[in-house]
Amino acid sequence: MSRVYNFCAGPAALPTAVLEKASAEMLDWNGMGLSVMEMSHRSDEYVSIAQKAEQDLRDLLHIPSNYKVLFMQGGATAQFAMIPLNLLGDKKSADYINTGQWSAKAIKEASRYCDVKVVASSEDKNFSYAPTQSDLNLNPDAAYVHYTPNETIGGVAFDYIPETGDVPLVADFSSSILSEELDVSKFGMIYAGAQKNIGPAGLCIVIIREDLLGDARTETPTSMNYKVAADNDSMYNTPPTYSWYLAGLVFEWLKQQGGVKGIAVINDRKASKLYKYIDQSDFYANPVAVNNRSKMNVPFTLKNSDLDKAFLQGADKAGLLNLKGHRSVGGMRASIYNAVPEEAVDALIAYMDEFANSNS
Ligand code: PMP
Repeated sequence: MSRVYNFCAGPAALPTAVLEKASAEMLDWNGMGLSVMEMSHRSDEYVSIAQKAEQDLRDLLHIPSNYKVLFMQGGATAQFAMIPLNLLGDKKSADYINTGQWSAKAIKEASRYCDVKVVASSEDKNFSYAPTQSDLNLNPDAAYVHYTPNETIGGVAFDYIPETGDVPLVADFSSSILSEELDVSKFGMIYAGAQKNIGPAGLCIVIIREDLLGDARTETPTSMNYKVAADNDSMYNTPPTYSWYLAGLVFEWLKQQGGVKGIAVINDRKASKLYKYIDQSDFYANPVAVNNRSKMNVPFTLKNSDLDKAFLQGADKAGLLNLKGHRSVGGMRASIYNAVPEEAVDALIAYMDEFANSNS
């Protein structure tokens, strides 16, 4: 078997050990003679798989008991609508911080439901940094404050958690959940599409403080109502059972890596060495403010973009896949999520160096 190093932004690399376990259990889970995919979501066996996954996630993030964990569908994009539908209550407006393409999409969708106030934006510098706390013009009557702690396309990360007083803070952690320790109690709600640090696509995790449940607008579709999901253990209708199971295997694997604390040390090392290499090179560049550089998504450009094609072709040949930057920005992007091993980053740096030397 040969596995490449996969730097895809999402759906992203999964730990080989997880795929091996899923493969071993594919036809016959635990002697039952059927696949997890073929189980009723109401069966005792599946419910035990689902509950264990939730408990492991709770352990990994130290989720306080007054928070519900929901396993939902529709990706993070569906959350862009579910958030205003569920959280506006009798308020008319919500505050949003705009740091790039994903926050912009969240803003656009929320604008269909309420008056969105953009309380800070980094558009002035092409979204190459995150606004600071003192940049935020927060409104005390906002239903919530939304931000994107890690912009997957721009590779921009907040280096602090915004302080929003009594207004609940809502965060799209799709591309950085479980990558470093997090104080969940600072948030009203956290959400994350699974296909980066959690598992396969088709699942979106919502972690929400209980007091925010129960105020959904009447037109909220039942399948998108957080209270309904919470009251039914995320099984009001059929959940994405296999993705949920696989997420559970990823959580087990992460516990074996020393939990979030353990993986954060490795993530730090991976990102530091890649940025260090880019910074000392006059062949490659990264445009993001140093304190806002993402440890998960590292965009970089070549000095001469005419070489992009050759760079990508050589990378493919070297078994380094999916380094092409997002179609909207070009250049390169290395996504180095939890499941991307440190050896992959070492191999990438070695290839970048070799390519720079032979093309300078
Ligand atoms: N938010 C962020 C930060 C993302 O990276 C993505 C996907 N790349 C999304 C939202 C949208 O997720 P989905 O495709 O699961 O709807």
